[in-house]
Amino acid sequence: MQDSSPILLWLRRDLRMQDAPALAAACASGRPVVPVFIRDASVDNLGAAPKWRLGRAVEVFAASLAENGSRLILRSGNARDVLLDLVRETGAADVYWSRLYDPASVERDTAIKSDLKKAGLAVHSFATALLFEPWEVATGGGGHYKVYSPFWRAVRGRDVAAPSPAPSAIPAPDRWPLSETLDQWDLSTPMRRGAEIVGRYTEIGEAAAQRRFDAFLDDDLAQYAHDRNALDRVGTSGMSPYLATGEIGPRTLWHAAMRAHHDGNAGAETYLKELVWREFAWHLCWHTPHILHRSWREEWDAFPWNKDENHPDAIAWKRACTGVPLVDAGLREMQVTGTMHNRARMVVASYLTKHLMCDWRIGQRWFEQHLVDWDPASNAMGWQWVAGSGPDAAPYFRIFNPETQRKTFDPDGTYVARWIAEGQESPPRTALDYFEAVPARWNLRPSAPYPEPTVGLAEGRARALAAYDAARGGSGSDNPG
Ligand SMILES: Cc1cc2nc3c(=O)[nH]c(=O)nc-3n(C[C@H](O)[C@H](O)[C@H](O)COP(=O)(O)OP(=O)(O)OC[C@H]3O[C@@H](n4cnc5c(N)ncnc54)[C@H](O)[C@@H]3O)c2cc1C
Repeated sequence: MQDSSPILLWLRRDLRMQDAPALAAACASGRPVVPVFIRDASVDNLGAAPKWRLGRAVEVFAASLAENGSRLILRSGNARDVLLDLVRETGAADVYWSRLYDPASVERDTAIKSDLKKAGLAVHSFATALLFEPWEVATGGGGHYKVYSPFWRAVRGRDVAAPSPAPSAIPAPDRWPLSETLDQWDLSTPMRRGAEIVGRYTEIGEAAAQRRFDAFLDDDLAQYAHDRNALDRVGTSGMSPYLATGEIGPRTLWHAAMRAHHDGNAGAETYLKELVWREFAWHLCWHTPHILHRSWREEWDAFPWNKDENHPDAIAWKRACTGVPLVDAGLREMQVTGTMHNRARMVVASYLTKHLMCDWRIGQRWFEQHLVDWDPASNAMGWQWVAGSGPDAAPYFRIFNPETQRKTFDPDGTYVARWIAEGQESPPRTALDYFEAVPARWNLRPSAPYPEPTVGLAEGRARALAAYDAARGGSGSDNPG
């Protein structure tokens, strides 16, 4: 007799219809599918902006399921208990999910899988979030990669499964289990007034992701190798927030860029390489999970970082009032839009860890609170790359000069003017929005004089190099992004 018991589809970071192997497999079974999103500790512990962004993505995906005759069941609590409750309520015999690779999710999912199996359920996990499973890419000696370039050479010619189409139908159960509501969850509370501002600059959902990606392919990919560094125009794909929530899958991006590459598009290979930086970050995170919390190179533990979150230098940086225009512009862009140009990320990170000698984790945590594209692996790798403490990191003595960077990548001052209101007679909306997005208790005013530099650029550089000479460490190679 054919099994007609429902399948529980536990959605996490795969909020899409296309290139969604777990959803496709559940639908292909012909059995009723019960999609569920669980608000557990992994959601509660998110930073303010990623939590708000995830909530919006869940809302949009729930609407898209509803358009297809399905529903998204929302439950909160310990994921194992929620799943077992739903198994009892629905009579489900199978649980499907897409794999996650951060250590906390791996630990949780492994324990849940074992408990569900003990309870007699079949559990299927699917590869969805990455192009290459981290354990499937190995060096000739069988180890993992620590340097990007050989990693890229190892994967660039590999087959990547084609993205699956959206299911033509999502079979529904006869009776739906009860669901909580997103209003009850209120995932936007920690964003406070910032949510409204960032919301204006954010388009949510799979359709929005696809639209933006198509426009990027048509208009920007050919110049990407050059324009991706330009601060004064939008030359990148803007896919990172959608990848973070799984509103678009990396296979969709990979295959489109690969087709463009074969058609002779000059920017396509550079784009493929950037997608592989994301893979490399997850490869590192899987094999050396301490990258998330500790200096990847142990010798950096002894470096005299300033670890005080509330040190005036750290506060000036967080408030985007360092007096260094490009640094402040990048940090303000993040407060207003929830994202920051990659070039600016490198400059603000270098300024914090080198000119101000603050511990890279202060910046890592700040980004974790404010980026709607927050990705634990890319964030940790990015910070440790800039700080010099990571694998394949920039050498510590490579200190970005924010003024030289500004002249090269924002020669007309367009980017700085977009984000810094002080000193402008009629500042643009973008620059003014900063003052609306940040906490009112910071008491910042666009009419105030622009702050004096926290530290002179030459002085900060000399201080950092002296500390580095005293502590000794670091090695060099490619530039991520
Ligand atoms: C200090 C620091 C922190 C960062 N934190 C994050 C983070 O939390 N989340 C995040 O997604 N990226 C992070 N990055 C990487 C990079 O800045 C963003 O991925 C990029 O700016 C996203 O814009 P985009 O989608 O338009 O990129 P595009 O240039 O269009 O690139 C396409 C995709 O390639 C990947 N990619 C590009 N550059 C990198 C890179 N350097 N490292 C890893 N993947 C990359 C991203 O998935 C990106 O969406 C960080 C970089 C630095 C230096």
